[in-house]
Amino acid sequence: MILECKDLTKTYMAEDKLMTAVDNVSLQADQGDFLFIHGHSGSGKTTLLSLIGGLTVPDSGNVIIDKQDNWQRSDNNLSELRNKTIGFVFQFASLIPTLTVEENIMLPLSFCSTGCGDPEYTKELLEQVGLADKADSLPGQLSGGQQRRVAIARAFINHPDIILADEPTGDLDEDTEKDIFSVFTEYNKKHTTTFLIVTHNNQLAATIPNSRIFTMRQGKLAEDAKE
Ligand code: ADP
Ligand code: MG
Repeated sequence: MILECKDLTKTYMAEDKLMTAVDNVSLQADQGDFLFIHGHSGSGKTTLLSLIGGLTVPDSGNVIIDKQDNWQRSDNNLSELRNKTIGFVFQFASLIPTLTVEENIMLPLSFCSTGCGDPEYTKELLEQVGLADKADSLPGQLSGGQQRRVAIARAFINHPDIILADEPTGDLDEDTEKDIFSVFTEYNKKHTTTFLIVTHNNQLAATIPNSRIFTMRQGKLAEDAKE
């Protein structure tokens, strides 16, 4: 088991009232699993991903990745987890506009002290996401779908065990969305990376072999019944 969440809870104060963004969520994922999460806006999906990714501290409960609790790790170890073990694909492409495509993809390597950065691997990733001819372009010269692919290649650069993707295709057209999903499935086949993807497209999610689909409602997570 690569990931386990146990009784995870996170509350926020909103207008003097305590609201529970993530409510007692438990979840287990094995290496190579494809987990999809859908739910209304405000149901807690982004909060759950940021708890799993070690970006937000839970009020209670545990996130255990690779047999170790996120919040029992040292600061250095937690940083390394966020940089190497987990690849993030945020809701918006979040590329640096003044860096080229290749430089954006290699950005996570600059936080690594030694032995990182394999130009061959960067090339391979560019090919995998279909941008081999765009290495020297700036993000502003790319379409929305192409920018998203750059963000995905960047998430892959450190060979992560887990990819956390928050509505990675939310603002893209249907064909581009399909393409992006196939980038994920191809990568998953090759590297047995675990994927946790927030998406509204259940139909597309259901076409992915071995996918598990979850619904989030008011902070609670439940696995959908298989059809
Ligand atoms: P989703 O991604 O499903 O739309 P979120 O996880 O973003 O949901 O939000 C869940 C709830 O938690 C919402 O009511 C939101 O307003 C609240 N929330 C999220 N982050 C914060 C924050 N940093 N401070 C206060 N409230 C927050
Ligand atoms: Mg969200």
